[in-house]
Amino acid sequence: MTRPADPLVSVVAPVFNEGHGVDRFVQRTGAVLAAAGLRYELVLVDDGSADDSWPRVCAQHSLDPRVRGVRLSRNFGKESAVLAGLEHSSGDVVVVIDADLQHPPTAIPAMVQCWRDGADVVEGVKRNRTGQSPAARLAAKVFNATFTRLTTVDLVNATDFRLLSRPACDALLRLPEHSSFFRGTSSWIGFRRTTVEVDIDHREGGATRWTFRSLCRLAVNGLTSFTSAPLHLVTVVGFGFAAFSLVLGVQTLVRWMRGGSLAGFPTVILVLLVMGTFILLGLGVIGEYLARIHEEVRGRPRYLVQARTTPADGLDEPVIVGQRTERAEL
Ligand code: UDP
Ligand code: MG
Repeated sequence: MTRPADPLVSVVAPVFNEGHGVDRFVQRTGAVLAAAGLRYELVLVDDGSADDSWPRVCAQHSLDPRVRGVRLSRNFGKESAVLAGLEHSSGDVVVVIDADLQHPPTAIPAMVQCWRDGADVVEGVKRNRTGQSPAARLAAKVFNATFTRLTTVDLVNATDFRLLSRPACDALLRLPEHSSFFRGTSSWIGFRRTTVEVDIDHREGGATRWTFRSLCRLAVNGLTSFTSAPLHLVTVVGFGFAAFSLVLGVQTLVRWMRGGSLAGFPTVILVLLVMGTFILLGLGVIGEYLARIHEEVRGRPRYLVQARTTPADGLDEPVIVGQRTERAEL
């Protein structure tokens, strides 16, 4: 495959209530890319911000048309915002980066160099984990280790800071699933990959936009879209219980025939509690998968666009566009 000598670099950043952060991000990233002599466009996806993020994106666009904005009709979550950005990018390479400057834009030229050297996917791998509480760090570690073990996708030290070549980006966009998990899908697609080590900075401005709930949702989405191991676990534990009940049943029967009395009440309560917990957990796991199937079958668009700074396809009015409802033939 021939690689253009002077590639257009699309930098995609999801923006959710970043306020001043928008200007800071545009200035810093623009400066780095200009200094490296790269042709670029910044695709800022406003994920239904309630603050002045969108007017700021528009203001940046009027200052420099290389800054393009897409406004989603509500908060669809970071994953959908990234997807919207990828679909609106037109570069030969696409870099996905956080708008809060935790991912250092200074690493982009090195990533582009890796692409020039032949890589299609360049992952920013964190050297450190600045700016996270010990609890969040532990939770992330446990999730990434579990995910890596249960799937073929290695998430240890992974970040969403990634460069995709145009073919890799197009391949990713062909995946039809509704709840996408960028970190996972961008690894799942394969292609020639390499990593660059990056230092994750402290967040500039405000606190993390994730809530405990949204993180849990992301974790469940990530797991259910990549592995059916939890379902198998339910089966395995079910078999374990079956064996246990067989032993207990035989023992109880033998004791009863011999006329010996059992310890009784506490044992019954304990067994009931354990069984009840497992049954509910098992139903919960099945429910999660069912919910995913339901979501996929409904086939709703993954995000809706309310406005764009650069209307694509010659559309002038603020458009509501349902994206990608077609099922790819994968
Ligand atoms: N973000 C988003 N939608 C959301 C939550 C976050 O677009 O619902 C964006 C946010 O503006 C930022 C990036 O995703 O650019 C990462 O978010 P954050 O810094 O809050 O996450 P963390 O760095 O703590 O993982
Ligand atoms: Mg952040």
